[in-house]
Amino acid sequence: MEQLKEKVAAEQKGLKPLLSMEYHELEAWLKEEGEPAFRAKQIFEWVYQKRVERFEDMTNLSKALREKLASHFSLRVLSEIVMQESTDGTMKFLYELPDGYSIETVLMNHEYGNSVCVTTQVGCRLGCTFCASTLGGLKRNLTAGEIVAQVLEVQRRLDEKGERVDSVVIMGIGEPFDNYDELMPFLRLINHDQALNIGARHITVSTSGVVPRIYEFADEKTQINFAVSLHAPTTEIRSRLMPVNRAWPLEKLMDSIRYYQEKTNRRITFEYGLFGGVNDQVEHAHQLADLIHGLKCHVNLIPVNDVPERDYVRTSRDDIFAFEKTLKDRGVNVTIRREQGHDIDAACGQLRAKERSEETE
Ligand code: SF4
Repeated sequence: MEQLKEKVAAEQKGLKPLLSMEYHELEAWLKEEGEPAFRAKQIFEWVYQKRVERFEDMTNLSKALREKLASHFSLRVLSEIVMQESTDGTMKFLYELPDGYSIETVLMNHEYGNSVCVTTQVGCRLGCTFCASTLGGLKRNLTAGEIVAQVLEVQRRLDEKGERVDSVVIMGIGEPFDNYDELMPFLRLINHDQALNIGARHITVSTSGVVPRIYEFADEKTQINFAVSLHAPTTEIRSRLMPVNRAWPLEKLMDSIRYYQEKTNRRITFEYGLFGGVNDQVEHAHQLADLIHGLKCHVNLIPVNDVPERDYVRTSRDDIFAFEKTLKDRGVNVTIRREQGHDIDAACGQLRAKERSEETE
């Protein structure tokens, strides 16, 4: 296994992932190499529509260009280690990166289509206290191509059934805005009409509250959906759950969210995990309604599974419905998230932790 990893890493050394190249960048590279710009369209078609895995299969390119591409770029950056399928159809994939790290990607099947949840970092440095994937800290950022590859790999799976990826959510392991410089090309690539052509309104980025990047993202004025992992109605509770709140307190976060809405006029989704006895009482629902008053928004309540490593317990059914009712009575647009993949360790980070511990046993 180790030998294989070394071989793959050596092969990929010095090669840029082609999936990290935006269309205009590929055009510019081709121009430098004395090739006509329309080759970019052909290459994107091979990669994103025909989904070939080797440059030598790009049969309408000259042999010389195929060789040149192969000596500059890598095409396959992920290899599947394991896939788990839930009884509800949710699929979790564990992929290995060229340097041996592993990441996970989830495919959910909703009534409105196939939705892929991607990971943006190996680990995460934000240390939310309820998150199993924080235990090892941040290992590294993913490149744009490694994030694109997750969507493409899942699309390959769906090809077998003649289906397509309808939407993408950036809610896997990692804080997307902590990897902003790779996130933005990734978003442009999956949205590009010569690539995967996933509409901006079918893409959702979720942040735990990296305030400076929220301002930047607002100024991009995209049509991409925006979600904030809020999880607390007061700054005290939020600091307890999410250390990021100490760097950017709730008040500053809400300022940036209001700025985002002024700039884009787009509705915001607030993710609110319910943690038994911490933030799930009726008084908290009232505080939350006060906090988001005046914003065009939607609250997504997420009854969080027990996190054994962190001593968090699940909120009772009665408390979940009392919380929801309080928000509704206060005029808040609210839903309770339907659980998916409950039987396959759906909570973020769990699959990776489990596979790795089995490997080392
Ligand atoms: S919940 Fe998300 S942002 Fe928080 S530590 Fe886990 S991966 Fe990072």
